[in-house]
Amino acid sequence: MNRSASLLLLTLALASACESKTATTGEARVAAKTATPAATLAAESPADAPTSGTAATATDEANAAPAPAPGTIPAAKTGDAAAIYARPQVPILCYHQIRDWTARDSKGAKDYITPIATFKAHIKMLADSGYHTVSPDQLYAYLTTGARLPSKPIMLTFDDTDLDQFTIARPTLAQYGYKAMYFVMTVSLGRPHYMSKAQVKQLSDEGNIIGSHTWDHHNVKKYQGQDWVTQIDKPTKTLEDITGKKINYFAYPFGLWNEQAFPELKKRGFVAAFSLAEKRDQQDPLFTIRRIIASGYWSPRTLHTSIVQSF
Ligand SMILES: [Zn+2]
Repeated sequence: MNRSASLLLLTLALASACESKTATTGEARVAAKTATPAATLAAESPADAPTSGTAATATDEANAAPAPAPGTIPAAKTGDAAAIYARPQVPILCYHQIRDWTARDSKGAKDYITPIATFKAHIKMLADSGYHTVSPDQLYAYLTTGARLPSKPIMLTFDDTDLDQFTIARPTLAQYGYKAMYFVMTVSLGRPHYMSKAQVKQLSDEGNIIGSHTWDHHNVKKYQGQDWVTQIDKPTKTLEDITGKKINYFAYPFGLWNEQAFPELKKRGFVAAFSLAEKRDQQDPLFTIRRIIASGYWSPRTLHTSIVQSF
């Protein structure tokens, strides 16, 4: 490759990395749209304290042992798409930045910037309401084989590698014995305001699960040829080298997917992929697992209402 071509690529890479923040508002917009009825409802019924919560699955905590690694579940024991689709969904929350708002933060950006006190209140509400965090392996075993989950299961996910996920979310979750899933965009590793490789390894060593979230947040629907290597193969290998573990799960940038992506992800060894609030694919529900963005605007009560209504 000649020098000007390299420079052009570098410029494009840097530009797209910067855009990823702005672009994430796309995810936020989807969530905000879904969230509106819940937010309205919560505002209109202030007397309704979040007491009941979701009963997503029939559960038995005693039987909720650590899940088998997805690769160890025989294909013959795995339910077909219809069976998987029919199981009640487990609520999954998606967070991005956890920091206090500044004057520079746009109205749209605040959906994915959760102020620190708000985040702590969200997690406290989940704990007070009796939610138990589950790992993606537990979720996978539940979806494919009907394995039991703890009562009031919920999965917490953090996208885009922001440093505050390590400095704020990690200790907050630890207070309640909660574990989470972190979808890392590898272009950001070690940059200012992002996690380092050592921090990602520590999260993994502490029992959290690391997932792949591309190299620099390009839309999966536009990949062709070499893009699969740049956005999926290399970053996933980087994460496997950092954690020393196989990376089984993927999250689509902006929550955007198409059917053509499923075989590409499967042949690379992924067993499930996570989108955002849109409908699942009935033929491939494991590759369109839904999450909602826990908006920075949401009170604990609004979050609770959204969890109950969205899953
Ligand atoms: Zn993202």
